[in-house]
Parts: sequence; structure tokens; C-alpha cells
Amino acid sequence: MNSQPTSTARHDSDVCIVGNGAIAKTTALGFAQAGHRVTLLVPPSAPPPPASQPGAEQPWDVRVYAVNHTAHTLLSSLKVWGALDAARVAPVESMVINGDGKQPGDLAFDAFGAHVGSLAWIVEDRNLNQALDAALKFAPNVNIVSGRASGLAANADGATVTLDDGAVVASALIVGADGGQSWVRGQCDIGLDYRSYHQRAVVANFSCEKPHHGVAYQWFTGHEGIVALLPLPGNRVSLVWSAPDALAETLMRETLSELAVRLAVLSEDKLGALRPLQPECVKDLPLALIRPHAITAPRVALVGDAAHVVHPLAGHGMNLGFADVAALLDTIAAREGHRSIGDERVLARYARARKEDVLLMQLATDGLARLFGTDLEPVRVVRNLGLNLLDKLPMLKRRLMAQAMGK
Ligand SMILES: Cc1cc2nc3c(=O)[nH]c(=O)nc-3n(C[C@H](O)[C@H](O)[C@H](O)COP(=O)(O)OP(=O)(O)OC[C@H]3O[C@@H](n4cnc5c(N)ncnc54)[C@H](O)[C@@H]3O)c2cc1C
Repeated sequence: MNSQPTSTARHDSDVCIVGNGAIAKTTALGFAQAGHRVTLLVPPSAPPPPASQPGAEQPWDVRVYAVNHTAHTLLSSLKVWGALDAARVAPVESMVINGDGKQPGDLAFDAFGAHVGSLAWIVEDRNLNQALDAALKFAPNVNIVSGRASGLAANADGATVTLDDGAVVASALIVGADGGQSWVRGQCDIGLDYRSYHQRAVVANFSCEKPHHGVAYQWFTGHEGIVALLPLPGNRVSLVWSAPDALAETLMRETLSELAVRLAVLSEDKLGALRPLQPECVKDLPLALIRPHAITAPRVALVGDAAHVVHPLAGHGMNLGFADVAALLDTIAAREGHRSIGDERVLARYARARKEDVLLMQLATDGLARLFGTDLEPVRVVRNLGLNLLDKLPMLKRRLMAQAMGK
């Protein structure tokens, strides 16, 4: 059935940001705080999450991110970091990476060796979004428009997004921050390479019997995929298990208590007995590599997962997105006075600024996912030796750590 346009509304601004995730909201805040008029175009409202019982602890979100120093700096400069519920943020003091097989290698990094207070911080998606929503409420010049985008057009004078009710959002620049399946990217006919990892990330939260001391653990298990246990405040940990599709299906069929038993065996009891924090709360997410052939088009810039989707084994997708936002804001702030924010040259500079960082992360995460995804014994031996060797090369370790921290 064809719906007739019902609105003649027109929203004029300098920049229109499409998306409703942390990256879209951060972009909106960044542009607004730099003095630009912003339209944030979000999908028609989803039902709000059920309210928790008064006095009861808010459940722990199973979507958590290891946020690095680049992201921390950006969020602090936008006054978002200080608005997070700090009691629900866990600093990562060290990382321990374990190989597999008869002679598993291992590799450890710690904040002391990297001369920083923490390597990263584990932040829940809900905590991050609540802080961003609160900051957006007080941000000058942000117009949040809820609607379904149906058309995008760009020319020398500017760009427009048309909504399916007929309303029009006009701006000098459109930022696509609408995730891995980006509608904006699709409208710009940007081609992409897509490869499924044939894995799903199973995520859930547990309490642990022994203290985790701020350690982020990761196990490369070969045929069972990659398992990470990330520290949450108190004796709690968050699981990200990148499991081959068939195993992920089994894990999702099992109870969380059965999953906890598997984890206790895998972790050789380092954290003692694990107990599900919320018995029913487990999710699985498909994993793929998405590499768009461009991250800009006339009057359009892509940021976050719209611009790149990587394997979560290094915990870096969101961090890459924050680095995109910082680079876009810097490039636009440094433009010559006569250029508009949607100027082709300005956007080309943004694309160049992001090329190396994104490519390195794509190669590193994809390479590791393939290297540790095979069960061939010679490969297993070499990769375990590699982990041990790297552990004994402090200079190289420091460089890798600096890269991961975004420093
Ligand atoms: C299991 C797992 C663990 C991860 N762990 C980490 C980690 O530790 N650290 C890290 O840095 N990264 C991590 N990542 C990556 C991280 O989750 C993503 O990179 C990040 O969520 C991308 O954010 P985004 O805002 O770009 O996209 P999304 O979070 O996908 O948000 C896109 C938004 O756009 C909205 N949208 C979609 N279409 C439209 C439209 N047409 N109009 C308007 N809005 C639209 C959607 O509703 C959504 O709100 C992990 C990923 C996975 C799968």
C-alpha cells in the first residue's frame, strides 16, 4: 500500500545526522558544541525498556564496550564521560590472552607497563546512551526528528533527506551513523566487501566467586572460537563468546548455568564459580567483516559501523567509531573559511585521515580471527609460540598496547 505524504515540515540545519546509537549521538553533540545547527534523525520510537522495581539494582546490560583512551578523551571533552554512572564503569587494569592446545601460549599487558592508570574502561551500552541522551537534552541547536527516511539527494547547494511522511531535512552535510546496514550508505551507492565470519557473539553477565582484579581475559580456543570475560564493577564479569554458528546455537539452547559451568572449566577456575547475573538474559549477534569502498560521497560522511564493521575480538568497533567522530570534527574545524562543512575537499581530508587507522584494525582483527580460527596443529603451534614470543618483547608489546589504547 502506498502511503501519501502527510507532512510539509522542513527542518533546516547545518548537518543532518542519521542514526540513534552512541556514535550518532556523540556526533550530534560534537557538532552542536562546535556551534553548528544539528538535526539528529532517529527511527520512529521503539518502546521504552521496562522500568525496574523501585530500590532494585538496574539489571546489568549484556551489551558492554571496552572504551579506549581516544574515546575517553572525546567523551570527556563533550562532558559525557562525567555524566556516566561511574559506579557501573570498570577500569581494565590488565589483559591476559591465552592460546590453546597442549602448549598454550599466553600474553599479558598491564596498565603499569603501559604507564597509564587503566588500559580501557568497560561501559554498558545503556549507561553510555543515558549519559549521551542527558547531554543532548541540554545541547544547544540540536533538533531531534523522529521518522523513517525514504530519500536522499545531494547537489552543489546542499543535501536533503526526505521522510516517508513527506517532511524534508535540509543541510550542508549528512552524516551516516546508522550502523552496519547503513541506509545512508545504500542511498549513496557505495559498494562494499562483506564476509560473514560464520560466528555469533554470545553475550551474558555473571557474578564470579573470586575477584577479577580488573583483568580482561581472552581465550583463543581454536574450534570453539574466542571467549572474552571482561571485568564489571564488583565481582561481576561480562562474557563475549565469538562462537562458530553451530556452537552458538547450542550455547543459546543451554541454560546460563550450563554456560557458566563451561566457562569455569575453560578459565581453569581463575574466577571460581560463575553464576548468571540475570538468568534469562543472553543475546547472540552475527559477526561479519564489512568494508565499504568509500566512507564519503557528495555531501555525505559515514562514521561508526556505517563506515566499517570489524570482528569484536579486539573490542574496537565502537572505538574506531569514536575516532571517526573526532577526526570528522577536527577536519571540519580546520577547514578554510570559504569552504562549507559539506565541501568535497573537506570530506576527502576526513577520508584520508581515517584510512590508515581503519585499515590496520581491519587487517589485525581479520588476521587474528583467521589465524586463531583454524585447528591445524602446525598453525596452532606457531601461533602459541608467537604469543609467548611477543610476551617477551617489551618494546613491541608497548607499541601494540599504544595502538589498542588509541594513543
Ligand atoms: C559482541 C560485540 C562486542 C563488542 N565489543 C566492543 C568493545 O568492547 N569495544 C568496542 O569499541 N566495540 C565493540 N563492539 C563494536 C560495537 O558494538 C559497534 O562498533 C558499535 O555499536 C557501532 O555503533 P554505531 O552507533 O556506529 O552503530 P549501531 O550501534 O549499530 O547503531 C546504529 C543506529 O542507527 C539506527 N538506524 C539504523 N537505520 C536507521 C535509519 N534508516 N534512520 C535512522 N536511524 C537508523 C539504529 O536504530 C541504531 O540506533 C562490539 C560488537 C559486538 C557485536
